[in-house]
Amino acid sequence: MKNPQYLTTVDRLDELTPADRAGLEDVTRKFAFRTNEYYVSLIDWDDPDDPIRKIVIPDPRELEDWGALDASSEKTYTVAPGVQHKYPQTALFLAVDVCGSFCRFCFRKRLFMNGADEVIRDYTEGIEYIRNHPEITNVLITGGDPLILATSRLESLIDGLRSIEHVGIIRIGSKMVAFNPYRILNDPALPEMIRKYSTKEKRIYIMAHFNHPRELTPQAIEALDLLRDAGAIIVNQTPLLRGINSDPVVLTELFRKLSFIGVPPYYVFQCRPTLGNRLFEMPLEEAYEVFERAKAGVGKTADAIYFKYHQAANPSDMGRFMAFRSNPSAYWFDDYEELIDDCRITGNEDEDLPDFPFGGRIPDDSSVTG
Ligand code: SF4
Repeated sequence: MKNPQYLTTVDRLDELTPADRAGLEDVTRKFAFRTNEYYVSLIDWDDPDDPIRKIVIPDPRELEDWGALDASSEKTYTVAPGVQHKYPQTALFLAVDVCGSFCRFCFRKRLFMNGADEVIRDYTEGIEYIRNHPEITNVLITGGDPLILATSRLESLIDGLRSIEHVGIIRIGSKMVAFNPYRILNDPALPEMIRKYSTKEKRIYIMAHFNHPRELTPQAIEALDLLRDAGAIIVNQTPLLRGINSDPVVLTELFRKLSFIGVPPYYVFQCRPTLGNRLFEMPLEEAYEVFERAKAGVGKTADAIYFKYHQAANPSDMGRFMAFRSNPSAYWFDDYEELIDDCRITGNEDEDLPDFPFGGRIPDDSSVTG
């Protein structure tokens, strides 16, 4: 198939009635709309609760005043144009402000709004920042979706990062395989580029972003295969999303399908309470019930919930283990007010521990992009 066309106004969605389209105008004026013909073809329009539809088709409930626009305070950690440095060993490169479609639940939707200025076109200063910070061993290229960039442009960034000795891991956060696998299938230069930079000594990781098993189409699986054959290590990340994968049967099916095709379901995130996202949000403890968060370093009893920092902006929090009194309406840590127990397991903060390749599995959606 040829590259699908991108759709940037709901007027292009013939499946919606004129009244439906008119009802979405206010929403799309506030939060940008974008999708493409391929992804729209996956929607079951006969089902008003279709999960694929929920991922990209605007909903008037997004206008409900709930949550913060920059819920993770990402701007606070911006250290150079387009570069965030929150955890010592990890830097985020916001390389682009467009995606294969816009997820209605995106926690970085602020980047797609008028006047946004956190993404830059010139990567030079960001690369120099990383070069001058030897503690950064792990760079996540994100946005937006880096695979929306022309391969030559993405290569210029990867080449710059590969020239820095202390950057051991380059990750590309991308939902492009789910949104538009033809971006990969129709561009032989992309796997060639991956082959060049994903070496035996230093692999390129692709953090894929499948939210629902129906996104794993034959085309998507083919595109994943191309990237893997080119030498990329591919894992999946998804937030828990009400009405999309909040049913344990659906989540299990997603994990099963991912495992069958050799894409480990690596991260499952708790969504930050982001503006416009109320309809997708799940309280932490309900999310736990769905996922059995014990695997992610979080546990729960009838009276308490337990958190462990696998990664922290403040190094002294690394390994910190906390027990809070249960609060079934909590959406984030701040909502837990009664700390029952608090201990640090790593002991010596000055200890020279080796870096682990990835950010933590604490419920933090800061890497869910692309
Ligand atoms: S979650 Fe990722 S793919 Fe979806 S809109 Fe946000 S940045 Fe784009």
